[in-house]
Amino acid sequence: MEELELTINKRRTFAIISHPDAGKTTLTEKLLLYGGAIRLAGSVKSRKAAKHAVSDWMEIEKQRGISVTSSVLQFDYDGYRVNILDTPGHQDFSEDTYRTLMAADSAVMLIDVAKGVEDQTKKLFHVCRQRGIPVFTFVNKLDRYGKNPFELMEEIEQVLGIRAYPMNWPVGIDGSYVGVYNRQQAQVELFAKDGAHGQSVLPSTMGSVSDPAFRELLGESVHAALCEDIELLDMAGDAFDYDLVAAGELTPMFFGSAMTNFGVRPFLEEFLKLAPAPVARISSEGEINPASEEFSAFVFKIQANMNPAHRDRLAFIRICSGKFTRGMSVYHAQSGKAIKLAQPQQFLAQERTIIDEAYPGDIIGLFDPGIFGIGDTLCQEGAKFTFQDFPVFPPEQFAKVQPKDTMKRKQFVKGMTQLTQEGAVQVFRQSEFASEAFIIGVVGSLQFEVLEYRLKNEYGVELLMDRLSFSVARWLTGDEQAIKSMKSIDSGMMIRDIKDRPVLLLSNEWAIRWVSERNPGVEFLEIPPNS
Ligand code: GDP
Repeated sequence: MEELELTINKRRTFAIISHPDAGKTTLTEKLLLYGGAIRLAGSVKSRKAAKHAVSDWMEIEKQRGISVTSSVLQFDYDGYRVNILDTPGHQDFSEDTYRTLMAADSAVMLIDVAKGVEDQTKKLFHVCRQRGIPVFTFVNKLDRYGKNPFELMEEIEQVLGIRAYPMNWPVGIDGSYVGVYNRQQAQVELFAKDGAHGQSVLPSTMGSVSDPAFRELLGESVHAALCEDIELLDMAGDAFDYDLVAAGELTPMFFGSAMTNFGVRPFLEEFLKLAPAPVARISSEGEINPASEEFSAFVFKIQANMNPAHRDRLAFIRICSGKFTRGMSVYHAQSGKAIKLAQPQQFLAQERTIIDEAYPGDIIGLFDPGIFGIGDTLCQEGAKFTFQDFPVFPPEQFAKVQPKDTMKRKQFVKGMTQLTQEGAVQVFRQSEFASEAFIIGVVGSLQFEVLEYRLKNEYGVELLMDRLSFSVARWLTGDEQAIKSMKSIDSGMMIRDIKDRPVLLLSNEWAIRWVSERNPGVEFLEIPPNS
């Protein structure tokens, strides 16, 4: 029992969130490098170029050189077991990214020093905030010119509404920083000039900021500027408060360059100390303590047809409590069946291996005979509880889809049903008449492409897809009659979700306000009721 607790306390499961191009792939690779999981950095990077090596199961990834779905990378560092949930770093990100955050205990928010807080940083941060998980900030690309660190702190506060506490501070002149100052230890760490483009661990020297040797090395003006900044931070900045960090209300901030490895090790070490170990999760039976002896987990992602030759389907589960052992039998709450977990897979730097045991915080992939759905609970036989429903993320883009060939109706419905179960898209139908078509809603337009591609390749159905001009959906609650006789909705579209709840599509927030003012008896919800 105690042993289980110790094992859990050493686990760190997190996701890196960022706008595309901020350097997430590079940072992930460098964390693996420092973790000793890869010898020469470059292997994760090459994912983008030679993607087919690991994921030729999905042509679309090859064609566009992007990662459509996310996986997990695991390594050990300093006694910690690190699980990095890899989220797709593409412009058109999808619900998959959001769901991955459900499996994380904390997030690292990567910011490009020159660009500051960008659009997708905001969206992803928002999801983390809703979950209340701690967010750590890594300001990247410090080897280049960028915004002033004070300016970035202010931007984070203004745009994201969270205060930042710099754990370290860049030393030197913008565009050519030479090291970082560790505020807690009052130490300077200077990095060697990187000659090998960060392919190996970067040597550094550490010392006290008041050490004359450092002063001399830094030069009078750099040293003076650093001392001034430190004083300003100590006087005007927030105090470090771990409770605020844990509650997601203060973000510890780090500076570095993933490319040159500058600041990567200090970040990793400090982050691992501060980031939370797996905590209790809420279920229908109250909180489930990770150290409870009874195994439990939930499905946060389903990836089908990873290997076209086998047509397999993998369900990724996040372990929440107890110990997992290969071959164990668990209870699948949603189907009411007992399932033997025979061939669990784990991932180390892109390679799949069969694993024998796993603990809370770990992610494993299970072969899915087609019974799992996103958010499903697995628990010890006899326990019978379910974790909280997964949130439904408000779709922002909509399309009407039907099979090109009406003879393919059966396969179309089968494909749509399975892909909905996987959470690839959200499906609705038009309420007034039984239409052949479905209305689908997505968060990112890439999901449309994936749907089109997969229906064709996996179910042999070509789609007719008409994009709709709506961009907001509202679930309607209130008096059934009031909903039926709603006024001023000509510009919108009434649909029903898969649970037959009424939903109104409109073109923008302004239209929602306009309609809601004219229908006081109806409530407009951004997400489905009771989800
Ligand atoms: P992702 O889209 O967030 O995964 O970003 P990548 O890791 O692919 O990086 C995007 C681009 O930024 C690539 O050309 C990287 O080489 C570059 N990059 C990443 N980190 C740094 C850094 O610390 N400094 C500089 N100058 N470039 C970087």
